Amino acid sequence: LMVGMALLFFVLALWFSHRMARRAIIPIAKAYERQREFVADASHELRTPLSVVLTSIEALQLDADESNPFTNNVLKGMKDEVNAITRLTSELLQLARSDADEFVLERSSFQVKAAAESVIAKLLPAAQAKGMALKLQAPDELTVEWDRGKLTQLLVILIDNAIKYTLDGGDVHVILADKVEKGARFLTLDVRDNGMGIAPEALPRVFDRFYRQDKARTRQDGGHGLGLAIAKNLVDAAHGTIQVESQQGVGSTFRVRISV
Ligand code: ADP
Repeated sequence: LMVGMALLFFVLALWFSHRMARRAIIPIAKAYERQREFVADASHELRTPLSVVLTSIEALQLDADESNPFTNNVLKGMKDEVNAITRLTSELLQLARSDADEFVLERSSFQVKAAAESVIAKLLPAAQAKGMALKLQAPDELTVEWDRGKLTQLLVILIDNAIKYTLDGGDVHVILADKVEKGARFLTLDVRDNGMGIAPEALPRVFDRFYRQDKARTRQDGGHGLGLAIAKNLVDAAHGTIQVESQQGVGSTFRVRISV
């Protein structure tokens, strides 16, 4: 009888704790979903007023008297801040959307070299301003069946970082290649810089949201620590991998591998 009672008690305790756990989990999931929706809605709603403010600042800049450096400096400062907030809201919106499993790959056949060339053309002025070279290595005829917009986004995040975190005069190498392993085809994208590198203790955290190795410096560069989190979300959703190898003072290599 004692054994039977103990067994009954055990089964009841198990059932009760399972019930409690389920009760606790559902509100957490709901609260998380509400928070995600709030972030998505808030960042979406902020976009229109921000673009109105930006246009107004640009109108004032056109109208400003060149002989008044104070007004011009204030307007420039305002424009930089509005641009930083605009970028932050669009990054938050993007993260909130990818959290909601709204991820869909829009596949089409395209040449990866041409896609990389257009990203490089867009980022070249920022590199040239620092006396840096952007070098691309990709087979001319390499065509993949993937999402050109998402590959462009990955390239922008990684090349933009490579430029930001490299001192004047450095180089950025972008290398694209395909590989067939056990009948499956992969595209690898390497972005290599000879910049400041990442400290060993910071390496596991660079893909975390809002993580910045050097807060003062990155704030000045307009970064919010969301670029690599977005890149990782995107690559994870596409069942690919993203990795980093880095040595402080020597440089960093980010490698993306996706199935194409
Ligand atoms: P941020 O907007 O700050 O650039 P990211 O998520 O793109 O945000 O990067 C997170 C942090 O990782 C950066 O603040 C920087 O400290 C580090 N990092 C990213 N890319 C590089 C790189 N190529 N070289 C050195 N550090 C990097």
